[in-house]
Amino acid sequence: MASGLKEITIAGGGLAGLSLGIALRQRGVPVALSEAGCYPRHRVCGEFINGVTMETLQELGIGELFHDARRHRSTQWFVRERKIYDAKLPQAALGISRHTLDQRLAAEFERLGGELRTGSRMAREGREGLVWAAGRRAERGSDWLGLKVHLMDLAMEADLELHIGEAGYLGLAPVEGVRVNACGLFRKRSELKGKGAELLWQYLEKNRLERLAARLREAGRDESSFTGVSAFRFGRQDLDEGPCVLGDAERMIPPFTGNGMSMAFEAAEAALEPMVAYAAGQTRWSEVMVALRERLRMKFRKRMVAARLLHPFLLSVPGHTLLALTARTGLLPFNALFRLLR
Ligand SMILES: Cc1cc2nc3c(=O)[nH]c(=O)nc-3n(C[C@H](O)[C@H](O)[C@H](O)COP(=O)(O)OP(=O)(O)OC[C@H]3O[C@@H](n4cnc5c(N)ncnc54)[C@H](O)[C@@H]3O)c2cc1C
Repeated sequence: MASGLKEITIAGGGLAGLSLGIALRQRGVPVALSEAGCYPRHRVCGEFINGVTMETLQELGIGELFHDARRHRSTQWFVRERKIYDAKLPQAALGISRHTLDQRLAAEFERLGGELRTGSRMAREGREGLVWAAGRRAERGSDWLGLKVHLMDLAMEADLELHIGEAGYLGLAPVEGVRVNACGLFRKRSELKGKGAELLWQYLEKNRLERLAARLREAGRDESSFTGVSAFRFGRQDLDEGPCVLGDAERMIPPFTGNGMSMAFEAAEAALEPMVAYAAGQTRWSEVMVALRERLRMKFRKRMVAARLLHPFLLSVPGHTLLALTARTGLLPFNALFRLLR
């Protein structure tokens, strides 16, 4: 404790944990971060960062890490292969792969003197000075499956293409160089047995997105970027009142209707002031937890309610019909939805 400040331990080196770690190090707080995996690695994620402000990124001291991120401005939506919507985003979204972003954040954290232990899985506990940013809780009975792969040189119709199928959807968004991230969320189907990207194409076909599957099959791909994830549930995750939780570990918004990456950064920003006050001995840990819970509740409450209502609806047949109808007649409240969910 050479700085005279108390140490903060962080479990989980994803976006919430690393960005909080960086911001704390910039304020001289000693930080030890344990990450179960290692860097760089591919993650199931749309890699489309929407809603976060430059002020938040600067406050966390990570704005520069996005200097070469893609700036996405246009979007097209398709329902069962019919284009229903073509719009400009009210605010540019950032495109960068998790492979690059997580590694940059980890390197920045270490550059600032943070102690990073990779390959180190911590046990969940509620002790003073420990922030639990280890992502969503595993839920065995979940019927959702997320799949992602990077494609090469895919001709795009817009910066972000969103393809909605019968019981799932796929987003296409360019990241670095010629790479386009293809990431989807589907209701699980046990009869599909494909391996790697083939499994993703099978899910598209079963969701009545056959033409899209054929288009993506033809593109070059980086098979090593293929990743899949299941066993998650949306909404509040921290039901046991134990550790101080942040990011997906605290609440997970359905990705179609929310911006989990932006929320991870915003959560880290919300945690910063109480954590610095604790490190300086100005407040007790129990007070930090109460203050943080309240800040996160106020920040995310509306978004979570809207997403919980919209997510099942937009992935249902009546939802598709309404979406197509409102889009065709110019009544889709795209900008209002965008504001509500960001
Ligand atoms: C299919 C899908 C698509 C998505 N698309 C988007 C999108 O386009 N845009 C968007 O904004 N959001 C998207 N998200 C959400 C986004 O990925 C998450 O909200 C975001 O990654 C949350 O960051 P986090 O730091 O809380 O958790 P994570 O990024 O999950 O990081 C948690 C870290 O903790 C580590 N860990 C786990 N257990 C332990 C342990 N016991 N000890 C130590 N370390 C541990 C993990 O290895 C991991 O590195 C998507 C999610 C899914 C499932």
